[in-house]
Order: sequence, then structure tokens, then C-alpha cells
Amino acid sequence: MRFFSSIYVLLLAYIVTAVVFWEMSLQKLSGRIYAQQLITLQSSIDSTQHPAEYAKELSERKEDLDRRTKQYIAEGSTFIIVILIGAVVVYSSFKRRIVLSKQQNNFMLSVTHELKTPIAAIKLNLQTIEKHQLNEEKKEQLLGRSIKEANRLNDLCNNILFASQLDGGVYKHSREQFDFSAMTEDAVSEYSARYPQRFEDDINNGCMVVGDKVMLQMAVNNLLENAVKYTPAGSPIFVSVQKKGNDMVLQVKDEGAGIPDSEKKRIFDKFYRVGSEETRKAKGTGLGLYLVSKVVNQNKGQILIKDNDPTGAIFEIRLPIDKG
Ligand code: ADP
Repeated sequence: MRFFSSIYVLLLAYIVTAVVFWEMSLQKLSGRIYAQQLITLQSSIDSTQHPAEYAKELSERKEDLDRRTKQYIAEGSTFIIVILIGAVVVYSSFKRRIVLSKQQNNFMLSVTHELKTPIAAIKLNLQTIEKHQLNEEKKEQLLGRSIKEANRLNDLCNNILFASQLDGGVYKHSREQFDFSAMTEDAVSEYSARYPQRFEDDINNGCMVVGDKVMLQMAVNNLLENAVKYTPAGSPIFVSVQKKGNDMVLQVKDEGAGIPDSEKKRIFDKFYRVGSEETRKAKGTGLGLYLVSKVVNQNKGQILIKDNDPTGAIFEIRLPIDKG
């Protein structure tokens, strides 16, 4: 990339210098034409005998010279501006492509890992149950872990499927009236069963909204999953649904490290993940929040990130309440 940038800047500098050089050459040529015209004028009109005619002709030549100078400067500057604008557009779109392709590469690596890890864990658990005479408690423990892994696998597949359907424009959006409070309560109970003693909630009953229930459910699940994934084991996660004016406000508050201000916008980009592969502890694909923001926007809602006090993140979804 750095090599390409240097070559690109060199080429650009060469093109701009060439344009400036041609412009200077044209100016010089124009000056010579003017000098030649003066000689011709002096030999064809006697300035002492016909001063008025000579002055008129001279001023016409001078005007010509000025017009040419202005034309060369205007055209040359336009060329340079167009070339520079084009160069900036090409460079930024190329850079965007490089970043996207790097992120896609990371995505493929993490997806492969994310798919293989739960499959390997489930396989091992089932083989252990099959080969060994285990007591009921041990069996239940292994089955419980396998179900957790299968759920993770299911969420991941859903994210990949939804992202490709939404991006490809083939997803058929549905719009139905549904009880957002009940949907969130179900999601919190499911997560509480998967991660006991982590979730607390305060959910106002009967917040009705109109939107795509499957997609919004997936968005809420992603926020709950992230709250578990990016916080220390055992730290509390608080989920609330409240009516505020004409809106339904869902908040998922955690007590993790939170999200630095500089990352707050970027984490909604496709495949974007904070930090580098080396520093990240939690695995992921960078698809979750991209999908959440896309789904919330498509359902006429808003998503915000706030800082929790004293530490952690608050993800907030606002959707208009349906009163009809
Ligand atoms: P993934 O979890 O697969 O990496 P997401 O799109 O869900 O992808 O999240 C993008 C990034 O945002 C994550 O990599 C993580 O760094 C950050 N993030 C998301 N949720 C939280 C949270 N609750 N606390 C801290 N960081 C978070």
C-alpha cells in the first residue's frame, strides 16, 4: 500500500509538473507571437505618420496577448484542479477497497474459527457421552454446554444469512404490529437461562411497535450477546424497555470496558471490530452491530451508544410506538 501510494504521488506530481510546464511553454510561445506581431506592425504601419491607426492595431495585439494569457491560466488551472479531484476520488475509493478487503479477509478467518470451534466442542461433548458411562449430572453438564455452542452457531449463521440477504436486496421485509416488550422479555429469559445471574431487567409492559419482528428480534439478540461477550464474567447486564413520549426506548447496559468515543461510529461499519486480531480476546465477525443499525434504521428507528457510569456501554434503540 505504501509502495503504491508513493508511485501514485510521484505520477501525480509528474502530471501536474507536465501541465505547468506546457502552460509555461504556451505563455512563452504567445509572447513570441506578440513580439513577431509587433515587428510586422512596425514594418507595415508608420507610427509617426499614422499614430492613431498604429495605436489601435497595437492595442488589438496587446488584447490578444492578454486574452491568450488568461485563457492558458484558466485552462491550465482547470486541468490541474480536475486532475487533483480525480486523483483524490480514485485514491480514497482504492483505499476504501483495500480496507474492506482486509476486513473481509479478517471476517473469513474469524468466521472459519467461529464455525469450527463450536462444532468441535459439540462433537467432543457428544463423543464423551457416547463412549463413557457418565452420571446424569455430568451428562446434563455436557449437553448444556453443547446447546450453548449450538445456539452460538445458530446466531452466527443467522447473522451471515441476514447480512447477505439485506446487502443483496433479496430480503423480504415484513411489517407487522407486535409487542416489543414481550419480545424483549422472551429474549432476556432465554439469555438468562444461557447465562444465569447476569441479566436484570425493567420492562414496561405493552410497548407495541410496527416493524419486522424477526429482524428486530435478531437486533436485540445481538445487543444481548455483545453485552455478555465484551464484559467480565459475572458482571451484571441491565435491560430496560420504557415509553418516552411517542417512542419505545430499549437500553442494554453493561459494565464492561465500554466503547471509546473514537470508535462509537465505526463499530457500526460492516466487519469492523475494535482493536486488532492480536489484542482481541472475544471472537466475532464484525457483522452484529452493522446488522443492528441497518435493521433499526430500516424500521424507522434510531440506535445510540452512551457511556455507562462508572464503566461500560449503553446501547439504546428507539422506535416509534404504534398507537393504532
Ligand atoms: P463482533 O462482536 O462480531 O466483533 P459487532 O458488530 O457485534 O461484531 O461489534 C463490533 C465491535 O464493537 C466489537 O468487535 C467490539 O469491539 C465492540 N462492541 C460491541 N458491543 C460492545 C460492548 N457491549 N462493549 C464493548 N465493546 C463492544
